[in-house]
Amino acid sequence: MAETFFLPQASLDALFAALAKDGRRILAPTDRDGRTELNPVASFQEVAADYIQTILSAKEAAFPKVERLMTFTLGAKAVDLKDAEPHAEPTVLFGVRPCEASGFGALDAVFNWDTRDRFFNARMEALAIIGVGCTKKDDACFCTSVGGGPGSTRGSDILLTPVEGGFLAEVLTPKGRAMVALAPGAFQPDPGLEKKVVEVPVAFDQPGLTRRLKDRFEDGIWMEQSLRCVGCGACAYVCPTCVCFDIVEEADAKGGHRLRTWDSCGGPMFTLHASGHNPRETQAQRWRQRVYHKFSYYPERYDMLGCVGCGKCTRACPVDMNLQEHLAEAAQA
Ligand code: SF4
Ligand code: SF4
Repeated sequence: MAETFFLPQASLDALFAALAKDGRRILAPTDRDGRTELNPVASFQEVAADYIQTILSAKEAAFPKVERLMTFTLGAKAVDLKDAEPHAEPTVLFGVRPCEASGFGALDAVFNWDTRDRFFNARMEALAIIGVGCTKKDDACFCTSVGGGPGSTRGSDILLTPVEGGFLAEVLTPKGRAMVALAPGAFQPDPGLEKKVVEVPVAFDQPGLTRRLKDRFEDGIWMEQSLRCVGCGACAYVCPTCVCFDIVEEADAKGGHRLRTWDSCGGPMFTLHASGHNPRETQAQRWRQRVYHKFSYYPERYDMLGCVGCGKCTRACPVDMNLQEHLAEAAQA
């Protein structure tokens, strides 16, 4: 059961100072070089005042672009292998939107599916999320079509909703209560504030889409929809739920490192076998995989969707692939 408070805007710096004193890094949306992205901040004044979404996602806080898994050194007679240790800096993500906060659940499903990934889990344990509900949206947002919403608490430890003079604070988890305990003076009793967020209309019938995908695998729709896709992978790299990675080695004559790096199922090399055979050799097959993975395989395997409707992929796509429109089309008979 959530406890609710009023958090005056003037108290945000006291909260930030208390979090920093506790040894936590605060990542929040900032406006730098014409982009709004998550960056380390020391005060609330640095936080972007007016944004719908950051361009990149918050997933990097738990799943970095590049991560060292082990090092190896070549000796005269043997190879010395050393596991890398996760670098899990205590971190507070401030100001992420409810869709993004819930996206960590989709990552968790994969990184704890058949084995517990100690790198991901160490970062998640060190991570706390103060989400901020949405009072604005744009045409790319479709959270309500995939079970979320602009005021959804899923994934946040504390969810703030803007109100006159500050925020309504819903404290949702033990991590959230621990943050309140660090700055108890910042949080005031809730005088009965109304939680008001923007309305996001439902754009398509998602359960219908998931059912429809069962008999659309060989449909020409995937070719038609993917004709303009250039396979750049931008949609996957900005996505808070895309979890594909590659394992590569960087080495010289003395040794090297094994690294995990982000990858994208939209790229032609992703499924290329050493034999030269590629089971997904066309862009249409790769586009279909993206849609099926998120809306058919995820529900089958994890009982959840692999998409939170944030719209980052649509905003980032250089050729205007509009995911929401394509899903609405695929949901139709
Ligand atoms: S961002 Fe657009 S062009 Fe690039 S792979 Fe994704 S859908 Fe294709
Ligand atoms: S597929 Fe697009 S809309 Fe869905 S979670 Fe990823 S970036 Fe957001």
